[in-house]
This record gives sequence, C-alpha cells and structure tokens, in this order.
Amino acid sequence: MAKNKTVESRRPLIAGNWKMNNTISESMRLVNNLTGKVKAAKDRDIVVCAPATALAVVTTALKGKNIQVGAQNIHWEKSGAYTGEISAPMLTELGVKYAIVGHSERRQYFGETCATVNARARAALFAGITPIICVGESLEKREKGSYKLVITGQVKRAMADIKKSDAAKCVIAYEPVWAIGTGKTATFEQAEEVCAHIRGVLTKLYDAKTADAVRILYGGSVKPETIDGLMVKPNVDGALVGGAALKSDDFARIVNFVTPEA
Ligand code: PEP
Repeated sequence: MAKNKTVESRRPLIAGNWKMNNTISESMRLVNNLTGKVKAAKDRDIVVCAPATALAVVTTALKGKNIQVGAQNIHWEKSGAYTGEISAPMLTELGVKYAIVGHSERRQYFGETCATVNARARAALFAGITPIICVGESLEKREKGSYKLVITGQVKRAMADIKKSDAAKCVIAYEPVWAIGTGKTATFEQAEEVCAHIRGVLTKLYDAKTADAVRILYGGSVKPETIDGLMVKPNVDGALVGGAALKSDDFARIVNFVTPEA
C-alpha cells in the first residue's frame, strides 16, 4: 500500500463544511475572525464550504488570503431547468475552487445516488473545480462488519469514467455516517483503516502512483482535540469538518494542527 505523504499533490487539506448555516453577515463575521487566527501556512490547504448565498461575499473577502472557498454542491449540467441547483460555470465565475459532492446528508435527504455523485464529480473536474467526494457507511453496516464493501462500492461508482489524470486531482472524504454531527468520532485507527482501504481501491482502479496522489480526508465530529492524532496517520491527508468549522477558534486550531514531523 502506497503511503507517501511527501507527494506534492497530497498537501494536507482541512475543509470546513458550514452546511445550511451562516447568513451573509454571519459568514462575514466568521471569515473575518478566521483570517486573523489561521496561520499563513504554506504546507497545507484550507477551504471553507459556504452556503450558496454567501459564496460571492466569502470569495471576495478571501481573495489573496490563504483560505480557499468551496461549494456544498455542484450540478452536472452547465445550465438548464434544474430549479435550486448550482452549476460549475456559476461557481468558477465566483472563484470557487472546491465542491463537496455526495455528502451523506444529500444522499439521505435529497436522493443523491452514486450515479449523481459521479456526474457531479465529473462536472467539477471538467470545470477545474476539485470535487471532495464523500463516502461512508451507516452504523448498521459498521456493526455488521460490511463497511469496507460499502466503501469499495461507493468509491468505484463515484470514480466511474474518471480518467487517471483527473482521478489524481480528486479528494475523497471518508465520513462514516454514524460519526457525522453525532459527537461520536471514529478512532484514529478506524479512520486510518478505511482511508488505507480507499487508497487500495484506487490502486486497483488506477495504479499505485495515482492512488498515492489522491488526498483522502477523514470527516465525522473532528475537534481541536482530535486533529493532531488524526493527521499523524499515514493515509489521512486532512479533515472535512462540520460543526467545529462554525466556531473560529475551533476551526483555527484544527487548521493549525501540529504533527511531530511539522
Ligand atoms: C460533515 O458535515 O461533513 C461533518 C463531518 O460534520 P461534523 O464534523 O459536524 O460531524
């Protein structure tokens, strides 16, 4: 199994998912608080995924800063009769660099399927936006012990028809559903086991070099107290952070993680 965090494309990535939180004024307050607290670190990427209504002001406020902006969704068509959706050209015009696709909340509440996750990821790649593809098993599958099978299927279907050069640009977030917003975090070992498994799936789908280039994040109740231990794990390249991303002190501490190598 490839374990090489020194690959340039695997710069650590910490992404905050604000979900359906923060009006424009609240977003600006959070961004202003964050910029003062986040170190100007050259060795890591920092992203905030704001709600659609705040993307314009947040991208403007963060221009030239060390925090990039992500969307929480992206449609596969460039335009058309898709009420409520947001397209890649709309996002690129704003300067949005990342888009979350296939978050478990979208799979659970909005009918997102592996096929639509794949279509959204491909549209993002085509537009030069980095997809953060979320995969993760339910508590039931975890307890039954079939979680790796679930993850294998989700990764394979998300990556369908994505060529090697594009695959290397993807970010995959392992987010066990039972750990999202529950305060129940996976142990470092559980996170590492599945992130390593995902890299193994990518190795079989593509090759070791491609798999080694992909950033794999852990997400699920990540907190300031857990980030340092998580980032030590060889196959964990960062974190997708929900609740803690809404508090500037907590998110800044997560972003400013320290590892023995740092
Ligand atoms: C998420 O929404 O992607 C997430 C990981 O949420 P939380 O950190 O709140 O569990």
